Amino acid sequence: MKSSEYISLEDTFGAQNYKPLDVVLERGQGIWVWDVEGNKYMDCLSAYSAINQGHCNPKIMDALVGQAQKLTLTSRAFRNDQLGPFYKELCELTNSRKVLLMNSGAEAVETAIKAVRKWGYMVKGVPEDRAEIIVCRNNFHGRTVTIISFSTDPGSSTGFGPFTPGFKVIEFGDAGDLEAAITDKTVAFLVEPIQGEAGVIIPPDGYLRDIRNICTDTGITLIFDEIQTGLGRTGKLLAEEHENVEADLTLIGKALSGGFYPVSAVLSNAEVLGVLKPGEHGSTFGGNPLACAVGRSALKVLVEDGLIQNAEKMGLYFKEELKKMNNPNIKEVRGRGLLIGVEFHPETEGARQYCEKLKNAGLLCKETHHNIIRFAPPLTITKDDIDWALARIIPILSK
Ligand SMILES: *Cc1c(COP(=O)(O)O)cnc(C)c1O
Repeated sequence: MKSSEYISLEDTFGAQNYKPLDVVLERGQGIWVWDVEGNKYMDCLSAYSAINQGHCNPKIMDALVGQAQKLTLTSRAFRNDQLGPFYKELCELTNSRKVLLMNSGAEAVETAIKAVRKWGYMVKGVPEDRAEIIVCRNNFHGRTVTIISFSTDPGSSTGFGPFTPGFKVIEFGDAGDLEAAITDKTVAFLVEPIQGEAGVIIPPDGYLRDIRNICTDTGITLIFDEIQTGLGRTGKLLAEEHENVEADLTLIGKALSGGFYPVSAVLSNAEVLGVLKPGEHGSTFGGNPLACAVGRSALKVLVEDGLIQNAEKMGLYFKEELKKMNNPNIKEVRGRGLLIGVEFHPETEGARQYCEKLKNAGLLCKETHHNIIRFAPPLTITKDDIDWALARIIPILSK
């Protein structure tokens, strides 16, 4: 079948909740993917940073296949031999005390919301059903009804009410705004260390440290959503390390499986997850042996293959070269590690046209909002690969 036939099948039978570029992929290896006509593309999206270890990473694939032949799912009614070791490795790597495993990122966010509410009632003494959680304007934390209840993007929330109460929105990057918003009912501040979907928005230096101090001083929990920024993407294992701070809860997902399988986790200090008792939360697939085996391998690859350091080095090179473009339509090039945004002035024709042209030149990326392009290739990318990408990006983005 040709691309056009696959596209027509998708459009005929599928709900149209996405507007993908018209490229039908059938194979991937490392930073490269191939379409059904055999055309090769560099993947500069990495499935929204779920493919940090590269497509079909052979070590993770071995772990997946090996475990799939032994045991895939027990449910948490029983224990399994992959769960404990995965917990331990995750805790040691991220300096956490407790872990709760889920599947999608949104489920990790939902889990954190439940845990901090309960913590607020049991430990902090907030009156039942009155807990408030503070979040930021232009946040992205997923697509469930509770999560879109505090989205400020009308496209995400319009038409899906009634919404879950208990959230308060403040400005991202303004620590004073957080201080002003906290009341005696506040249980948590949920924030992305860098806002990915909003267009790679990097807060001012010192922000993460300031909000850490404010949360400590006022006795509320700090939750970092590192589902996109975590696991090496920004040149550190977790983006919080850029300012040497630690959240009370850290949410990871996406690259936790290297893109093979949905695996997410809530990483916690001892106290907050400690409030959850047997029967109060769960998931049929959460913590299954297949997910754990894949997750263990995905973490090992990140560390042992030096992908975190590579993201830092290659990201810096990529960003500095992109900054040399002098197109008056470009407002800013910014990023940390291999999470890079190129923002066009809003009055320009938008970023989609560039993504279409880049696709035709053999490079896949996606606009976020209408005027920002995000470049986030797998962390296995080399300098030669980046030069290959720049040779295509620069001529296209310069006009
Ligand atoms: C992708 C993402 C999520 C949601 O993850 P899903 O697996 O799509 O549910 C949550 N937060 C951030 C920051 C994300 O980038």
